[in-house]
Amino acid sequence: AAAARQKQATLGDVLARAGAAYKAALKRSPRAVEYLKGRGLSGEVARQFGLGYAPEGWRGLASVFPEYDDPLLVESGLVIASEDEEGKRYDRFRDRIMFPIRNVKGEHIGFGGRVLGDEKPKYLNSPETPVFSKGRELYGLFEARTPLREHGYALVTEGYMDVVALAQLGFPNAVATLGTACTAEHVHKLFRFTDSVVFSFDGDAAGRRAARKALDAALPFANDTRSVKFLFLPAEHDPDSFIREFGAEAFSRFVNEATPLSRFLIESAREGCDLGSAEGRAHLSSNARPLWSALPDGALKQQLLAEIAGLVQLDMKALQDLWAASATPRR
Ligand code: ATP
Ligand code: MN
Ligand code: MN
Ligand code: MN
Repeated sequence: AAAARQKQATLGDVLARAGAAYKAALKRSPRAVEYLKGRGLSGEVARQFGLGYAPEGWRGLASVFPEYDDPLLVESGLVIASEDEEGKRYDRFRDRIMFPIRNVKGEHIGFGGRVLGDEKPKYLNSPETPVFSKGRELYGLFEARTPLREHGYALVTEGYMDVVALAQLGFPNAVATLGTACTAEHVHKLFRFTDSVVFSFDGDAAGRRAARKALDAALPFANDTRSVKFLFLPAEHDPDSFIREFGAEAFSRFVNEATPLSRFLIESAREGCDLGSAEGRAHLSSNARPLWSALPDGALKQQLLAEIAGLVQLDMKALQDLWAASATPRR
């Protein structure tokens, strides 16, 4: 444990030094500043999130780290050791807007980097390292931890820009998963800071898929005191584009009208099922079973049992017996 803490301190220090260098480089790059301005960001919010810029060039960080060839830099994810050319090292992040990722203690644990144009990949994230795990960390949680208490709920978005734009326009209680599906660990972590979570998804097919994954991740935590909701933006929008086009009030309405977990569970289970036929009702009941089973015991679970039983035209006891008797469906 002491060794792990030491490693955290060392890697954290390297990442913090890089973050400071990226910040300084942003000030020197009118092109990067123009990019951020072009996306509507204020200097204030950029500073608040510690945004930076990784300059062009293969070894930009060599001027920051005299120890550039130290394996620690590779371990931090900032430097890549070429596999084919022996000993050759180069910067992972080049000519990108840099979003520092911090843990809840405020320690630097990684970065996300965005191209300024249309090059691919659009975003590059730090790799998994001893201090950075995408399945556990949420972008913006450090910045959001106090607003979370004030606003009483967390907004979970898909992207870095979403978090920063929302913070600028009155929703500093936003966080983002780091380009991965929302995990149970993400949800667990969030519920240490708030008892209400609103997942916000892009209005595209990927957003719908992400919502289903978030539902799976959130089910074990949805009880009678915690609230989980799902917000679906209009097609072609994400929180950043939506709030910039339609404003904070319009976004607020979407938050207020977000779909409660119970309704999303039912909608997901009945998708594609014709409730006018016995087959359709049977299909719903088999779709609903794994979702319902993942809920913790309590009033919400009982409510849903009653609701599903009503939809499939069985009494609650019969439905529960059926679910208990049927083999666990493959998922
Ligand atoms: P922007 O508004 O800057 O164009 P976005 O955040 O809306 O980007 P999306 O395409 O909606 O981008 O992706 C959502 C999130 O998924 C991103 O913020 C990023 O964290 C992650 N992501 C997107 N593309 C990639 C990629 N090619 N590699 C890794 N992560 C990615
Ligand atoms: Mn998208
Ligand atoms: Mn976007
Ligand atoms: Mn998006």
